[in-house]
Order: sequence, then C-alpha cells, then structure tokens
Amino acid sequence: MHAMRRYAVRHPRLFGRLYRALETTLEAAGPLVRALGRERLERPVAGAERAIKGFLFDCRMCGGCALSATGMSCPMNCPKQLRNGPCGGVRQDGSCEVRPDMQCVWVEAWRGGLRTEAGTLPAAINAPVEHDRAGTSTWLRVAEGTHRAAVLAPAAPLRPSGTRLERLFERGEFVVTAEFSPPDSADPADVRARLEPFRGYVDALNVTDASGANCHMSSLGVSVLLLQAGCEPVMQISCRDRNRIAIQGDILGAAALGVRNLLCLSGDHVSNGDHPGAKHVGDLDALTLLAAARTMRDEGRFLSGRKLTTAPRLFLGAADNPSAPLAEARVARLEKKIAAGAQFVQTQYCFDIERLERYMALVRAAGLHERIRIMAGIGPIGSAKTARWLRSRVPGVHIPDEMVARLERAADPRAEGKRICVELMRRIRAIPGIAGVHVMAPKQDHLVPEIVAESGVLGRREPLFVRRAEAEAL
Ligand code: SF4
Repeated sequence: MHAMRRYAVRHPRLFGRLYRALETTLEAAGPLVRALGRERLERPVAGAERAIKGFLFDCRMCGGCALSATGMSCPMNCPKQLRNGPCGGVRQDGSCEVRPDMQCVWVEAWRGGLRTEAGTLPAAINAPVEHDRAGTSTWLRVAEGTHRAAVLAPAAPLRPSGTRLERLFERGEFVVTAEFSPPDSADPADVRARLEPFRGYVDALNVTDASGANCHMSSLGVSVLLLQAGCEPVMQISCRDRNRIAIQGDILGAAALGVRNLLCLSGDHVSNGDHPGAKHVGDLDALTLLAAARTMRDEGRFLSGRKLTTAPRLFLGAADNPSAPLAEARVARLEKKIAAGAQFVQTQYCFDIERLERYMALVRAAGLHERIRIMAGIGPIGSAKTARWLRSRVPGVHIPDEMVARLERAADPRAEGKRICVELMRRIRAIPGIAGVHVMAPKQDHLVPEIVAESGVLGRREPLFVRRAEAEAL
C-alpha cells in the first residue's frame, strides 16, 4: 500500500484533478443525497470510499478528508497524526522522526504541493479531526456541503497580554530566555533551588512540558512557582498528552494564575520517552492549538463556540526548526503559525549558522520577521560524545561535522563547548530579523550565567529576572 501512496504523491496533478472532478460531481449530487438520506447511503458510500482511497492513499477514513490540501498525502499516516506538518523532528534525509523507515508524510505533501497546478500547498490551516466522524464518509459530507476542511483564523483584533516579555519585544530589545527543566519531585524547594543560577541573566524561563515525552512536574505547576519567585515563565503546552477539552481548561487555569506566555507545541512522540506505551493524544496540533488559544483570547469563546465569561490574556508562541528539511516548507509553516496566532517563536538548537542565515533570508523575503519575534535556540555541548548522542537521539537536532571535530580535538571539551556557544550567540545577535536567543543547557544550568555574560547579548540592559538583592529592593 505504501508504494501506491508514494505513487499518488508523486503524481498529485493527475490525482488532484480527478479528486476535484469527483468533488464537483458530489456537490452536484447534493440534492439527491439529501433526498435519499445520509443513513441509507452511509454504508455503501463509506465502503466504496474506504476501498478506493485506502488503495490509492492509505486512507484511514478520518471522516474529515484533507487530501486536497496536502498534495494528496494522507496526514493520518503521520504517526503524530499532525494535520499541519511537518513537525520539527523530521530527519535530515526527510524521513520521519518516529518511523525512520518512511519519508515524512508532510515532506511528501510539500513535494506533492510543488507538483500541483498551484505549485504549493494551500495556506489554510487544516481543521482537527472530529473523532466522532471516524469511519464515516467525507464524500457524503462534501455532497451535503458540511465538510469543513480548514480552520478559519479569528478575525477579531489581537488583544495584548500585558506580559513583561511581550512589552520587551515591543520595545525592540534583544531578549534572552533559557529553558527550565521541571524536577521529578513534588517539593517546591527543588524548583526554587534550580531557579537561582538564572537570576540576573535571563528575561524569562521557558518551562518544558514533559520534554522528550518524559514525565516530570507539570509545566503549569512550575510556571506558577516561577511567578511566585519573581520570574516570568513561558509555559510550554503540548498536544501530545491532552485533548482539546483539557487543553482549553489548562489555558484558562494558567491565565487565572497569572501565567500568560504560552508556547504551543505538537510535542515529541510518546515513543521517545519513558512511557512508550502511553496513548499519544494529538487531538490538536501546534497550529490548531494556537488557533484555539487565539479564539479564546480574541473572540472570548471555546472552540465549540460556547462563550467565556472572561477571556484569557495571552502572549502566544510557537516552535520552529530552521535546520530541518525543507527550508521553504518550514517558512511556509511559520507563516501558517502566524496566521493561527503565533506572536513569537523559539527555535530548536541552531548550531549550523549558515543554515540559520539561509532560513532567515527566506523569512525576511516573506516579511515574516516583521510579524513575529524570532528567538534562536542555542546551548553548550559538553563533549563530542554528547554531540553525537544529541544528533542521533534527539529529533530535529542538527550538529555540523566540523563542530563535532572541534569538540573532539579540544583538550577541555566542556570549555570548548561553552566557547562555541558564546561565539554562536554573538553571530546570531548580528543576523537581521532575530529578536533574541533561547539558551538550552539541560544539566548544565550553572553555565548559563557565564554564557550570557560572555556573549554580551544583553548589552547594558538589566534582564527582567533581576538579582535577589534588586528583587528585594523592589
Ligand atoms: S516527521 Fe513528524 S510530521 Fe513528519 S510524519 Fe513523522 S511525526 Fe509526522
């Protein structure tokens, strides 16, 4: 079946034409379908649809077909079931983060899109799957005129969050954030102890949400503890572990507790983590999560349409990976994220500055740097062995061979790793369109102050997370 699917995405022009002709016929048959009744037609039509689309596209009968928006590549074959990919974990050869034996469904979709008459994929945000429709016929829905393929971005004007981070970006300051890894503990003192090295060196801390699909204290719990300690958190929220009901509830809860900077992620696949048998939820993806959060903030309603009594005030972020293939597809996805509601973006590690520069050239050519604040991810690598482990085991991390060789040659690889990080931060600071850096130093938090100080990226500015003495004087 996989072979036929690949054939279909390599000939999207032919299949796209056939599909459009079918849709036109179905639309014309609408009055007949309504006269005969859906109940009577569902079984035979769904059976035919399953047989034909199953053979051609490995269709999973999600009940909300998106083939016409995906270069004829069925997104339900993505192990994360992303309706708007590719994710940042796609491998350098274009194979899937989760299943290296197959090409990323969304890389195939992008290539398929280039071969269509439009020469690209549609810019619309594909709607999430309505799971109560699974196994039913999309063709009948097309005939009835009830097939909703895309999410409409909220039309209401953007409402400011009032966070200090948002204001800092607005002032045009170069922003410095760092990653904060929640402990495997129920003791708030463990969070406070980890927090101290960052004082006086970062503007905000980004709290991971079970990163790598490993279980830790929740990002919401840690974010609230950070706020209490005077640090503005960026709370990561991933689609991996919660459905849209839980996610929207968490957004309201976070905003009620004062946590307003949200980084919306699809999330690593559960197979990467310490509970590989857990259910990978993926009810929404990063784009539909952004659209949901923006709808709550700007239109004051849930995805269901039900009104909120008080809308949350949010500053919305997303992730990207400038090193992942294909650069044009990444920039197109970034544009979709902006349309969905993203106001800032934090990238995966950028160890390959030439690639980051190429990505930023595309971003600037599309004018996206004026619509979103881009923070480049960076961090120290302690040894060549760690570098090799990172690039082989952490989805989406690309480390050039010269950097590994440099670490290998170094008499003190740890110091060399720090030096490389400082050099890269200075180069990143000079790239037009970059609004900040995001330092990721898991298990090396103590290095962050030295790295930030030596890089000079803050200039003379006091960061938002002030030193203890200054905090006490406030
Ligand atoms: S690389 Fe990511 S987007 Fe592509 S098929 Fe795999 S999980 Fe899905």
